[in-house]
Amino acid sequence: MSIASEVSTDLLWKHLESICQWERYTGTPGENRAVEYIAGELEALGIDVEIHEFDALISIPGKTSLDILGGAPGQIPAITAVFGASTGEAGVSGDAVYVGETLAPEGPVAGRIVVADRMLSPGRFYAFESAGAIGQVYVNMGYAHEMTVSTVWGSPTPESVGRLPVTPVVTLSREQGQGLIDLVKSRGEVKLHIHAEVDTKWRRTQMPVAAIPPPSGSGEYVLVAGHLDSWQFGANDNGAGDTTLMELARVMHNHRGEFKRGLRVAWWNGHSHGRFSGSTWYADQMFDDLRANCAAYLNIDQPGCRQCTIYRPFCTSDISAWVKDAVSRIGGQETEPAAPRKMADQSFWGVGVPSFSFLPVLPPDAPDLQKDHPDSGFPEYWHNPADTLDKMDRDLLTEHTRLYASALLELCTAGRFPLDPRSTAGVIDEALAGLEALAGSAFDLSPVAGAAARFRKSAEALMEKSDDPDALNRAARRISHALNAVLYTRQGPFDHDPASGAAVMPGLQLLAEYLSAGPESHDGRVLYTRIVRERNRVVAALEEARRIAASV
Ligand SMILES: [Zn+2]
Repeated sequence: MSIASEVSTDLLWKHLESICQWERYTGTPGENRAVEYIAGELEALGIDVEIHEFDALISIPGKTSLDILGGAPGQIPAITAVFGASTGEAGVSGDAVYVGETLAPEGPVAGRIVVADRMLSPGRFYAFESAGAIGQVYVNMGYAHEMTVSTVWGSPTPESVGRLPVTPVVTLSREQGQGLIDLVKSRGEVKLHIHAEVDTKWRRTQMPVAAIPPPSGSGEYVLVAGHLDSWQFGANDNGAGDTTLMELARVMHNHRGEFKRGLRVAWWNGHSHGRFSGSTWYADQMFDDLRANCAAYLNIDQPGCRQCTIYRPFCTSDISAWVKDAVSRIGGQETEPAAPRKMADQSFWGVGVPSFSFLPVLPPDAPDLQKDHPDSGFPEYWHNPADTLDKMDRDLLTEHTRLYASALLELCTAGRFPLDPRSTAGVIDEALAGLEALAGSAFDLSPVAGAAARFRKSAEALMEKSDDPDALNRAARRISHALNAVLYTRQGPFDHDPASGAAVMPGLQLLAEYLSAGPESHDGRVLYTRIVRERNRVVAALEEARRIAASV
């Protein structure tokens, strides 16, 4: 019997209904009840579940309102975003400045309250706060969406703690906020008063991780995970992912006798309320284990809602050929996997673990499509109390779980694990061509081009070998470790980049800033020093990857 046919719609639905009876804010009794439920159900099947307990900086939203002062006073009930500042009783008052859809200040905002169209992003919030805005009001295009406003990835460190927001933020639905925008545009001078309560503190949190080892006793494993915390009762985001993970654990456990490597299933906490604090804690605490044993990481977020009929995969380059093939062969859809983005608990690029997601989304003509970012393929009820069970589609949830189960079984039973460093060479060449076109003669990228060419040759030679799959697997994984940290991070293996922006070879992408600052300027010279070091980092990683490939 194929594993896909073992997926039970009834069990998926039973667990979904159970999980969605609790509001799952991290470190609160609601999330802990869900932890207990997941562990209890899986342990009853004979699956080992470890509940990790640790402290994390967690932020939970409270009562928030926006007052329009002066001529036509009025109070608008509102929501805030977690990690925004609490105003206390006094609140924060100031003159409004309308900034439209801009992502960064184009005029003076210091000492004023920004009123913006569309959803906030942490990078956008940070740009206005850094320019001196004392508060920010975001008027979404449809519903008001709950958000996280911190650019700090996971719990803060001495280096990142200074980036935590220090000013308040308010989000309004279009219905609530259009009048305010009209007023600010027509009257020019409008005084606003923000009252926002945010409960940000270190909390004890619980995070369940199930392990299904292979019969050989090998420590190697594939990691599959999604976030457990939710906004309110969060059915699609991510009760659906949580029940999918439970069903995957059950059906994969039935196939454990076929495993060449094990499966580890994690329900991350703190995805929203700790800005990826759970997966970041795991990356930090399990660093050695992940390096030595983790073959790949699959993230599952918001599957199985109505109208959610297309896959939009993203992945690290090393596993992209297989991801494209799996979505085509098993999912029946032709896709072009994209580079990974700063979402979906992508906390493992520095460790270097190959990472992928199939991400089911809504097609461009779906009625439920989100108004703020229709391109995202996310629904309008995303991060809103309207994300309830009636938005879920039992058949699509089953179909998505079948794809995940078939794909995971392939990975857990593969002799030759499907990493292909030639794809990585292709992604490097493409990114380098873009950088060379940008730099012209203003910055010398030839050391990177030379190292990339040598790496490509050795990767091609490696993939022609077939005699020892274990040796090839080991080499391909070590190449991923060497390259993913420079392809997708600036911080490297032992820290985490800010939670905003994403680019291939982000260190070298500073070239754009360097060129616009002007090579002769002070800022340009400062950037030049940085970019030379980034070039050294990339060249060293490529040389290490080449040596690994040549050593087999
Ligand atoms: Zn989610």
